[in-house]
Amino acid sequence: MRMILMGPPGAGKGTQAKFVADHFGIPAISTGDIFRFNVSEGTPLGVEAKKYMDAGEYVPDEVTNLMVRNRIDEDDAKPGFLLDGYPRTLAQVEELDGMVKFTGHELDAVVVLTADADELVARLLQRAQVEGRADDTEDVIRRRQEVYAEQTEPLIEVYRDRGLLVEIDGMGDVDDVTGRIFAALDAVRQS
Ligand code: ADP
Repeated sequence: MRMILMGPPGAGKGTQAKFVADHFGIPAISTGDIFRFNVSEGTPLGVEAKKYMDAGEYVPDEVTNLMVRNRIDEDDAKPGFLLDGYPRTLAQVEELDGMVKFTGHELDAVVVLTADADELVARLLQRAQVEGRADDTEDVIRRRQEVYAEQTEPLIEVYRDRGLLVEIDGMGDVDDVTGRIFAALDAVRQS
């Protein structure tokens, strides 16, 4: 299974990514988590990425693409992977196409979690209190939503045209959302 999990900031990608990846026995690869790890370790990649993340902007494609390419090359990702937070730009879509093609495989599904805009801001402000993420302040949250709408939403149509899109209602209990994703993906696998 080679799949992508998409959705606006706060849609619950990170939470669902772990459940879905475990279900299929593949690694969940979260670009946001990898960036945050590098920031906390103070690596050169982290120092570079932090400038963008703190402002709610995307890290430049060249930086992100190389990081994902290296991660996908690791052994645990050979049987498949779930990408959480990548691709987010049209240039990243092309880059990923090249990486997947190179391995002789194809993408199986692109899951998009949908959620109500007000609910998203409320969730992120709540998370700010629990996790204290540097980019969960109200101004930065709004900027992340704008950037998502401008740069990432157009990807939905690209994948819809390819027949890969699986749209899932991300509102409600975490377990219910997980159940919806499993049901939809099991249908994809059988088709
Ligand atoms: P969220 O989806 O809640 O905004 P993430 O943890 O997925 O949070 O990402 C946090 C930040 O990491 C993004 O705002 C962005 O700066 C950076 N980032 C993550 N993935 C990408 C990507 N594919 N391209 C560019 N920047 C990215």
